Amino acid sequence: MQFTKRQEAILEIIKKQGPITGEQIAEKLSLTRATLRPDMAILTMSGVVGARPRVGYFYSGKTPNRIMAEKLHQVKVGAIKSVPVVVNEKCSVYDAVVTMFTEDVGTLFVVKEGGFLEGVVSRKDLLKITLGGHDIYKLPVGVVMTRMPNIIYTDQEESVWAAAKKLLAHEIDAMPVVRRKENPDGRKGLEVVGRLSKTNITRFFVELGEE
Ligand code: ADP
Repeated sequence: MQFTKRQEAILEIIKKQGPITGEQIAEKLSLTRATLRPDMAILTMSGVVGARPRVGYFYSGKTPNRIMAEKLHQVKVGAIKSVPVVVNEKCSVYDAVVTMFTEDVGTLFVVKEGGFLEGVVSRKDLLKITLGGHDIYKLPVGVVMTRMPNIIYTDQEESVWAAAKKLLAHEIDAMPVVRRKENPDGRKGLEVVGRLSKTNITRFFVELGEE
């Protein structure tokens, strides 16, 4: 977060003399209250300065890094997720490759009836199988996918930070976003409701920088 010279000066006054009213700050800087208004808005929006009615402005004690960290923990996966691209376990390796191209994704989620998570297929899973001389028109993705219960997943309520940490820790590009739901057979399962990939995280990061 980069403040202007004037905003830095206001911040110094607030740090030393806060809580302090807008009028008092304006007086100290020999400026009008109206001139200061945009600066006060930026300082309060940044989170570095707090404002309380009838009390005035005060220093929140939060560093820009702390504010950034809070934001990363506040924003939930549900806010940045994408639509999942899913296939059936019987889908051929050939069709899976075509789906990756047409849907422009690098990870497919394999689901059974009702959208319940069964597995994940990545680009390299598909590349690997093409080296083996198999009939990719016939071979189903069920043979090459990573299966439950070995799937790393996230849910809408998880923080973007925690989800990004999982992607790094498990060295994977994407995770299904799931919701616990009862299977048609009465057992509990994970319904796929979204996709969280490194691209979502990168986009979020860029948007954060534009704020
Ligand atoms: P790629 O292999 O195309 O670089 P990944 O790094 O995401 O893509 O995948 C590496 C391996 O991890 C693959 O075998 C894939 O099946 C598996 N994988 C990918 N995503 C997940 C996930 N969410 N949970 C468990 N395994 C996964």
